[in-house]
Amino acid sequence: MTLAPYLSRYWDAPSSWTLETYLAHDGYAGLRAALATDPDAVTSTVLDAGLRGRGGAGFPTGRKWSFIPQQPADGPADPDGPAAKPHYLVVNADESEPGTCKDMPLMLATPHVLIEGVIIAAYAIRASHAFIYLRGEVVPVLRRLQAAVAEAYEAGYLGEDILGSGFELELVVHAGAGAYICGEETALLDSLEGRRGQPRLRPPFPAVEGLYACPTVVNNVESIASVPSILQHGPEWFRSMGSEKSPGFTLYSLSGHVTRPGQYEAPLGITLRELLELAGGIREGHTLKFWTPGGSSTPILTDAHLDMPLDYEGCAAEGTMLGTKALQIFDDTTCVVRAVLRWSEFYAHESCGKCTPCREGTYWLRQIMQRLEDGTAREDDIERLLDISDNVFGKSFCALGDAAATPIMSSIRLFRDEYLAHIPDGCPFDHRRSTVFAD
Ligand code: NAD
Ligand code: SF4
Repeated sequence: MTLAPYLSRYWDAPSSWTLETYLAHDGYAGLRAALATDPDAVTSTVLDAGLRGRGGAGFPTGRKWSFIPQQPADGPADPDGPAAKPHYLVVNADESEPGTCKDMPLMLATPHVLIEGVIIAAYAIRASHAFIYLRGEVVPVLRRLQAAVAEAYEAGYLGEDILGSGFELELVVHAGAGAYICGEETALLDSLEGRRGQPRLRPPFPAVEGLYACPTVVNNVESIASVPSILQHGPEWFRSMGSEKSPGFTLYSLSGHVTRPGQYEAPLGITLRELLELAGGIREGHTLKFWTPGGSSTPILTDAHLDMPLDYEGCAAEGTMLGTKALQIFDDTTCVVRAVLRWSEFYAHESCGKCTPCREGTYWLRQIMQRLEDGTAREDDIERLLDISDNVFGKSFCALGDAAATPIMSSIRLFRDEYLAHIPDGCPFDHRRSTVFAD
């Protein structure tokens, strides 16, 4: 199959991250198109394109922008009302879901496509301050973003009177301290305000009451980076790719037991079978055992789902989620219990402790998964895992609790016999064979 990459189209170009290279590839053409029209028309264009949030949930980006209260034509009626408050744009660049690794390469290769998207989005929602909240440990990305922002200021794309339009925008790159929960949008806002990052109650959603209690759009990196192309080529062009309810192109991240792991940009609705063809298939001599469509928080699948369309509807129809499109591929050498144990350790470590079901539940789940691995599990531990998962899923304060329970519930549903084989003697697998580089 042939692909027409947009986001990754010049990742291999020399110095792809510089303004000079970006301008040589039509850079900032989308911004010029946006500034030639009014902010509401920009939002309508993104709405018409049907762009859906690429952070995992797939919420329509244009609809989120349209929630931002606008000034009434005759000025704010209530000086303390929502319409009178400043608006903010915040880019969620705190990518940290296990397996998820699309935003970091994007920012490293082409930071200007993100900056251009930020300016367009801020113009659309009438924000004069924008923030990119980045996972702070990824220092090369931080440095590259900061350098690109400095270039953009120097060239007049940021600051006062952008390209002579009268529009003004200050953009700050903020480095977080590496807590997974700060990728949850309201915890991120707390962290950005200088507090310990813990989720806030929603509603009110950030669009109504976000940063400093002001209307705030929080968008994922890839969502914002997709916007310039929509402004440049139009919504019909975007809708000519993908499916009706999930239009456009996106980055799929293949990792694990594939011949050529990496980023594969494709129209939404492509299948894993097609992606595996592009990636050289499962490593030689092995077969697919299980995989995640969108990071560790999405229910796992097997080779029975190779032809499932990888879009929001296709995944929902099979009882899973597209999520972050992080396809983690595990072959026949992998012990499903051990893989799920690793994720359970992650969620127990990253639980912020604010609510009891998640704080206690993730700890218990990890302990029982470890017992299975070690050979100290009890006869009824599988039922215990399901019972605790049921008390965590849907009963926790934020999506982290659901994410912790999901791989356990879905793997027991598909691989109960393998769980049973761990009782009483522990893991029957030879783990040295299950690493990508073992053969
Ligand atoms: P959500 O469905 O609750 O919200 C999605 C977005 O839509 C949010 O920005 C929210 O503010 C907005 N929204 C939803 N309803 C709204 C309304 N009525 N009014 C205004 N705005 C509204 O999802 P979530 O809890 O924010 O995120 C969960 C997703 O995050 C999961 O699907 C998971 O895949 C993903 N995730 C991604 C990473 C990563 O590293 N990229 C990490 C963890 C989780
Ligand atoms: Fe914190 Fe977990 Fe509760 Fe979310 S679900 S608020 S991460 S304790």
